[in-house]
Amino acid sequence: MKQRTFLRKSSTPHNYNIQLSDLAMPCLLWFRQDLRLTDNPALLKASELDEIIPVFILDETDRTLGGASKWWLHHSLSALTADLGGLVLLRGDPQQLIPELAKKTKSEAIFWNRSYEPHSVERDTALKSLLKENGLLAESFSGSVVREPWETKTGSGGPYKVYTPFWKANLSAGIPDPVSNAGFNIGHLEGIGENLEDWALRPSNPNWATGWEELWQPGEAGAKQQLDDFLQSGIANYGELRNRPDLPNVSRLSPHIHFGEISPRQICARAQFVADENPSLAPDINKFIAEIGWRDFANHLLFHFPQIPVRNWKPAFDAYPWREDESQLIAWQKGQTGYPMVDAGMRELWNTGYMHNRIRMLVGSFLVKHLQLHWKHGEEWFWDTLLDADLANNTSSWQWISGSGADAAPYFRIFNPITQGPKFDPNGEYVRKWCPELKDLPTEFIHAPHLAPEFALQRANVKLGETYPLPIVDHKFARERALKGYEAVKAATSAS
Ligand code: FAD
Repeated sequence: MKQRTFLRKSSTPHNYNIQLSDLAMPCLLWFRQDLRLTDNPALLKASELDEIIPVFILDETDRTLGGASKWWLHHSLSALTADLGGLVLLRGDPQQLIPELAKKTKSEAIFWNRSYEPHSVERDTALKSLLKENGLLAESFSGSVVREPWETKTGSGGPYKVYTPFWKANLSAGIPDPVSNAGFNIGHLEGIGENLEDWALRPSNPNWATGWEELWQPGEAGAKQQLDDFLQSGIANYGELRNRPDLPNVSRLSPHIHFGEISPRQICARAQFVADENPSLAPDINKFIAEIGWRDFANHLLFHFPQIPVRNWKPAFDAYPWREDESQLIAWQKGQTGYPMVDAGMRELWNTGYMHNRIRMLVGSFLVKHLQLHWKHGEEWFWDTLLDADLANNTSSWQWISGSGADAAPYFRIFNPITQGPKFDPNGEYVRKWCPELKDLPTEFIHAPHLAPEFALQRANVKLGETYPLPIVDHKFARERALKGYEAVKAATSAS
């Protein structure tokens, strides 16, 4: 049965004269960061028409996708194609390709779910006007955040700049339910579009993603399975254990969420259901839902402050004496800094396309504070290597770590790369997994091999400077240098 009564609080009001029932033509359904069939408002709307032409456009007119994201996208598109029964694949500028495809397929309506990246907002706004000028129906929906970035406003009507009141306001407004699922018919797609294989999204020569198929299951089914597994076996004590990179107590849903294989509203609804069934899990579930809230906050900030990806949100940070040091940057990227927790994180990232949040904070702090290298270097490396690379989350998190962002960590909070080890990896298991050359060191030295006595190093077959690097920077020196650099920011702040 087709739905004909779709109405959502948050859908953009429109006053087109065209009635869907007037349209005997197919419609275009433009998939973007919403690669799923359920809780998909644009699909629900499109299903009111007789036939849907689903299309995905690889648009690299703004920023090229990172290597890890491409790997995920390949598998996610392949899963979506199978779930839909067909998908048109195009490459290039949607402002040109969408009108062309509409003409070719005789479609009179185009639907999509919104995204809040500055390039998308600009492009979609222009495209919508163009389509309307050409007499087509173009409508966009809310499908990838809990609430639209403009829906949550401070008392004075402006955007929030601090997370806690932002999320409180969201919760008091209520988290909207997912929309119903739709039955739909796919139109004739033969002869239109390109082959996924021709896009060569997966690496070869070398294939640095070897084994990732066993670690990840991109696609809607994989996303649902991941959520269910986590709510069954990882959510208990999430509030505390989410800080432990050696334990399986985070959801690892981030790439699924980034590509829209599961929506935040679906996650919140499912998590709430589990909390209702098991009230003792409610505090952990609330904490988990609050993390989803950080993602909404990042989108809220990006929508209202579109300069975040390119400029310090606090301009005083332009005065910070950033250094350039290519060899130290490479040591950081390769996990060869001589600080095992940092190195373990960077190697986990390279080998799996993922890094635990606690360790993202540590390696981020190490780059911008210990090495005094600009956060843009870290942001770019993460962009290329993270499966969940996300413009809103990545750039706001890097600015958060640097102290230059909204509601950011204070600049003077400099994570100690040695003491973070015993705190969050008390048995050294995380380091042993990713830095196997240190695996035989006793736990008391594993987070600081350079402080271990010679006999302990010998017994564990560790030769500093040969099998494992000496620290590329001294912790105490680096801390003082970073704090001194901060004086320049303070001076710029008081001068402004
Ligand atoms: P869980 O703890 O299971 O959290 C569930 C979901 O909540 C996540 O999947 C994510 O969608 C959201 N979430 C959790 N923490 C945050 C956060 N701090 N900010 C925004 N959303 C959050 N996250 C990305 O999705 N993409 C990025 O490119 C990204 N870059 C980051 C860069 C740095 C320097 C830092 C410190 C954090 C970054 N994060 C990024 C945020 C966070 O580290 C990841 O979302 C999280 O580690 C993903 O793991 P998970 O799904 O197991 O998290």
